[in-house]
Order: sequence, then C-alpha cells, then structure tokens
Amino acid sequence: MGTDHLIAHFERRFLYATSILALLLSLLMAVMLAQLRAITRSAQAHERIRQSQQSTQAVLNSVSLAIAILSSQGVIVSVNAAWRRLAQEYGSKDADGFVGQNYLAICYSAQDETMERVDSLAEGLSAVLAGKRLAFEHIYSLPGSEGERWYRMKVLTMSDNSGRVVVSHELITALKRAEAALRTAAYTDHLTGLNNRRVLSEAAERHLANAHRHQLPLSVMMLDCDHFKQINDTFGHAGGDEVLRSLAQVMRDTSRTGDILARFGGEEFVAVLPHTTSEGAAALAERLRQAGEHALTPHEGSHITFTVSIGVASLQPGMSFGELLKHADDALYRAKANGRNRVAT
Ligand code: GH3
Ligand code: MG
Ligand code: MG
Repeated sequence: MGTDHLIAHFERRFLYATSILALLLSLLMAVMLAQLRAITRSAQAHERIRQSQQSTQAVLNSVSLAIAILSSQGVIVSVNAAWRRLAQEYGSKDADGFVGQNYLAICYSAQDETMERVDSLAEGLSAVLAGKRLAFEHIYSLPGSEGERWYRMKVLTMSDNSGRVVVSHELITALKRAEAALRTAAYTDHLTGLNNRRVLSEAAERHLANAHRHQLPLSVMMLDCDHFKQINDTFGHAGGDEVLRSLAQVMRDTSRTGDILARFGGEEFVAVLPHTTSEGAAALAERLRQAGEHALTPHEGSHITFTVSIGVASLQPGMSFGELLKHADDALYRAKANGRNRVAT
C-alpha cells in the first residue's frame, strides 16, 4: 500500500470517529438541556406553590379569626397568627400555637370547672374528625381582664377530601353584649331601671297562679307621686325625671328580694309582693312612704323633696291580676282623696 492510500484510510477513520463523537456530544447536550429545562420548570412550579402558600398564610394571618388545620387524627398541623396569640393568652408557653399536638388532648388538659363544656366540645370535634358530622359549632365564654369574653368555635370538614378539619374561634363578646343590652332594654324601664309593664304582668301572672295553687298570701302596692305636675313645673322635666329615679331607688331600698318592682307609667309604680299578707304590705307601704318623704333628690346644687300616696290590696280567692290591680288603684284613689302622702288599704 502506498503512503497516500494509508493517509486516506486514517483520514476516513478519523472523520468517522469525530462525526460519531460530535453526534454523541450533541445528544448529551440535548439531554442535558432537556433536564435543565425540566429542573427550571420544577423550580418555577415550586416557587409558585411557595408564593401561593405564603399569600394564603398572609391572608390567614391578617384575619382576626383564630384558625387551625387539624389532621384527620386531630393533630394541629398549621395555625394562623390569631390562633397563636389566643393560644399564648390561654396557656401555650411557646409561640407555635400548639402545632404538632393533639387538639383534643390540649382541650382536656386545659379543663377546670368547665368539664361539661370540654366534654360537649370533644364530642362535636370527634364526630367531625370521624366524618359523622360535616360541621360543629360551640359558643363559650372565658374569663378575661375586662370581664367575660365570648367565643364562637366552629369545626368544619375541609372540602379537599383529605380528612383534615378546620377549627376556628371567633371573638363575639361585642355581639353578646349587644344582645344582652337589647334584652335588658326590652324588659326594663329606661328611666328608672325598674321592670317595665310587660315583665310586671308576666311575673305577676306566675306569682298569682302559685299563690292560688298553694293558698299563699300575695299583695300589691300601687304608688303615685303627689303633685308631680307641680314638681315638673317648678324644677323642669329633668328635675321630675330625677324624682322618678330617686323614688325607684327608695322602692329598691325598702323592698325584699323576690318583690317585683315596676314602673307602671308616668309617675305611677306597682310592686307585687309574693308571700305578703295585707298587714305586711301595709307596713311595708308605710315604710316606703316615710322613706320617700325623707328622700332628698339632688338637683342643680340644691335638692327636691317629694311625697307619695300608696294603695294596697291583697289577693282573694279566684281574683285575677287585673282585679287585684283595680283594688289597689281604688285604695290609691282613697289615699289621694284623704289628703295624699298616705297609705290606704
Ligand atoms: P296627684 O297628686 O293627683 O297625683 O297630682 P299629679 O300632678 O301627680 O297628677 P297627674 O297624674 O295629673 O300628673 C302626672 C304628671 O306626670 C303629668 C305628666 O306630665 C308627668 N309625667 C309623666 N311621665 C313623666 C316622666 O317620665 N317624666 C316627667 N318628668 N314627668 C312625667
Ligand atoms: Mg298619676
Ligand atoms: Mg301624681
């Protein structure tokens, strides 16, 4: 073989080998590029998930509702900022809001005299965790530095079929206070704080039924402020109002627990006295009349004095509350006719 032929043979072999090598290198680069792209996509997906989780957590942290997610076994897996604050206020030493602990176990360890409450709470929570109920709600109160604090606890199954549940605690003290104020307003005379007519008749019917059933004594007093128009004319309406408040206080001070005191309307008041005979009621009415006479109602640096006339009547067999009131009103009329500032029976 000539030298030229040998060189040509090696050149061919060399070219062949480099082509294979180039092909392999390109393949390798393609694979690497594909992997790099996959890694980038996965990192981007992770970043998106992380950002979405962060924004979900940020939303959860910005609400005042205390929220925790529990595993299907009842273990707290994640909580929001309000939950951590609530947990710290009510005993959690660390700042993690009991994450990693069983919620039922925490409830049981926190119980004191509220055993019954923890029991019903545990029952509801267990039922939701076991899938027997979709939701559970529980309203409870805890002592706070500024009085009782009311919470609404809700347990809800998560809609992702994971078996996990969401527990939330919402502070509803303001709502509870507004409800209580409405209830009080519905039953109370706003000027004097005594019962209104509605409460008077409801309570009186109950006490009368009881007195009739057990043949117990019961009496009624009807009071009317003497010359009240003159008080209003002299001291103005505000002065008159002060007198009505002061008379209500005199009634509270002279009555017994169990007596029902009410503003009947204007400057008229009624007291229902269960377990009280006519003699007892007359004695009480006389004490009240004297206390009224001596009461000094502060007004514009001075004071107002007032007197009351009182009619007393006692329950007779078969008598209705309306009839009893009529008897007391007739007696009051006699007290007025006989010169006022006196008791008539
Ligand atoms: P008498 O000794 O006969 O009872 O005389 P009186 O002036 O008290 O009699 P009357 O029942 O005619 O007057 C009651 C007055 O009470 C009339 C009314 O303007 C006034 N009054 C009723 N409700 C209120 C109230 O809430 N506040 C004030 N300041 N006055 C009231
Ligand atoms: Mg009157
Ligand atoms: Mg009057």
